[in-house]
Amino acid sequence: MSDFTGTPVNKYLPERIGKLAELSYNLWFSWHSQARKLFKLIDAALWEDVYCNPVLFLRRVCPQKLDTVAQDPQYLVQYDQLIASFDQYMSAEKWFQKQYPWNTKHQIAYFSAEFALHDSLPVYSGGLGVLAGDHSKAASDLGLPFVGVGLLYKQGYINQRVDNQCWQQAEYSNLDFSEMPVKPAVGDDGQDIIVSLTLPHRTLFIKIWQVQVGRICLYLLDTDIDLNNSEDRLLTGQLYGGDNEMRILQEIILGIGGVKTLRAIGINPSAWHINEGHAAFLCVERVRELVAQGVALTTAKETVKATTLFTTHTPVPAGHDIFDTNMVDHYLHQTYSDLGMERAEFMELGQAAGEGDDSFNMSLLAINLSGYKNGVSKLHSAVSRKMFQHAFKYIPLEEVPIYAITNGVHTKTWLAQEFADLFNQYLGGNWADNMADAQIWQRVEDIPNDQLWAVHQNLKQKTINYTRKVVKEQWLRNQESLETVLGIADFLKPEALTIGFARRFATYKRADLIFTDKQRLEQLLNNNERPVQIIFAGKAHPQDQQGKEMVKKICRISKEEQFKGKILFLENYNMQMATHLVRGVDIWLNNPRRLEEASGTSGMKAGINAVLNFSILDGWWPEAYNGQNGFAVGTEKTLACTEEQDRADAAYLYALLEEVVIPTYYEREQGLPLKWLAHMKACWRTITWQFSTERMVQDYTEKFYMQCINNYSKMILDYKLASERTG
Ligand SMILES: *Cc1c(COP(=O)(O)O)cnc(C)c1O
Repeated sequence: MSDFTGTPVNKYLPERIGKLAELSYNLWFSWHSQARKLFKLIDAALWEDVYCNPVLFLRRVCPQKLDTVAQDPQYLVQYDQLIASFDQYMSAEKWFQKQYPWNTKHQIAYFSAEFALHDSLPVYSGGLGVLAGDHSKAASDLGLPFVGVGLLYKQGYINQRVDNQCWQQAEYSNLDFSEMPVKPAVGDDGQDIIVSLTLPHRTLFIKIWQVQVGRICLYLLDTDIDLNNSEDRLLTGQLYGGDNEMRILQEIILGIGGVKTLRAIGINPSAWHINEGHAAFLCVERVRELVAQGVALTTAKETVKATTLFTTHTPVPAGHDIFDTNMVDHYLHQTYSDLGMERAEFMELGQAAGEGDDSFNMSLLAINLSGYKNGVSKLHSAVSRKMFQHAFKYIPLEEVPIYAITNGVHTKTWLAQEFADLFNQYLGGNWADNMADAQIWQRVEDIPNDQLWAVHQNLKQKTINYTRKVVKEQWLRNQESLETVLGIADFLKPEALTIGFARRFATYKRADLIFTDKQRLEQLLNNNERPVQIIFAGKAHPQDQQGKEMVKKICRISKEEQFKGKILFLENYNMQMATHLVRGVDIWLNNPRRLEEASGTSGMKAGINAVLNFSILDGWWPEAYNGQNGFAVGTEKTLACTEEQDRADAAYLYALLEEVVIPTYYEREQGLPLKWLAHMKACWRTITWQFSTERMVQDYTEKFYMQCINNYSKMILDYKLASERTG
């Protein structure tokens, strides 16, 4: 395999600081601010110009600057310390090695259509990708023998531009992989690894790229190579772009191509994790492999089931990938005839038993071929059991085997360094290595209130500065008058109660709910004694007209005189923007239609930064909310009529703001909002450890990965015994 040392990212990189090359290609930098600082110290302006992409940075930085730091004793002290902790991280015995010393030779494979690790690798759209990225980082932290598989999209996802008419424009640009922290995976012969797939009338060739995430590796598949015809080269062009045909081809590449990739590299996982239905074809390919080795079809299916976990993320039926059976037939008839299956028998794999029609549902395929299944919060699992009950004939609802593992966030990625410093001081030095330990978090009570409030206000000011900068860039590009642009300097007040709302603009998330009664909102925002302001961000899917209308509506309102400087819409929501928003506002608004948000993770990011959730009791929030650590909008009752529910939720939201949230925020004792600060500490006590990916990946390991590994070991043993008997 290729190694990450000694890459000529910059041929002038002095030997003394040569490890920066390896560091730039290891996403470990994305959750260690000290690592990023090492680059920034060399040339802060360039670091900003390259959007904190260390590979591009090392490529562009001028040799003199490298020489300067290589001779600067102060820099070298920091460098040596950081490299020592990196080396220690890479080689230390971690949780998995301690817990399961006999199982370290096994591999766990995790397939996902998107991974969000850092903006230098922009191949994600939203929460699903962030979850996969955070899962991978925690797998590395915990020392899991783990490998990820995904696609490397030439154009990533859309860049959102909002023009001066407030229309969302979707921009795509070609990524230059050579400037990103990815490398071609090469074989022992030093050649790029190429995998091939048979498609109707042609062979598709796939190039494999490798991303190092701490101790683990992701393999990303790419069809944009000379060996393919021009249409096939575009197959890995855009995430969630194109039509259904494009989608099924991408999923064939991910599922079937992904299995072939691992085999080509020599990785034979014992446990397989399907992150959302997109990757479910991996099961079909594994059944095919076994049948080709002479295993009977039923045994092959049972073997695959015993070693596969499926995580569903979509609580609404319309959200699942459903293909026409003719399309499935077109691309997979060779596969099912290799399996000795009839058309109808194969199609049933993507259907609920006995309910065959003309559609093939990827989530049902995953359910039918995975022995283990889970939803991503307790509530979502209950909703999923109901939604998928028809796939489990004769099983009573409460026994439908879809378990719950509630999502988490990767604490080190999302927690402000300023708070990490506070924790170092008051929780003890080892809090970061025991993220899932509830006891440690009780010590936040020792943090002095004035210190906490000062850090929070400081973070808020930084976010306000950032927000103004983003708006200014957008307005300059849109050729707003200079007078208008200069006015931005007065936007947002650091002392005003600040609401953050940032997420994909999917209709069910109801970004515009707070505008249900515009006059009432206007009065809240324009109260001189107790002002309120709101920052919005989020992309609509380019084919989602309603979502784009919502962007327009909010952007237009933000330009009305009475809302100017108090409501802002930031274009092009991404991880970096999320980082700023979830730590630099006072409350985090989340108002989806109840039962439609599977989990939600941005609220967890806010919570670990002591930003109070102000949320509908959906997804993860009913599990977390305890009356102290944030606010619940509405009740757990659901009305039958959507319009009525929307009105009721809006009314509740206003009342809660007016009667509780605003008064609590502005109540001061000894110059401090002591009640508010108590809420902030309650956040840390309850949210930080429970909703960390550290806890989540431990749960996945204990409940599912180890089961798969044990099943696999047992089957290997059975198989050996059987072959000894027959041989
Ligand atoms: C965390 C995150 C999301 C997911 O947020 P939800 O609350 O689950 O909608 C989406 N996009 C980005 C950029 C994020 O960082």
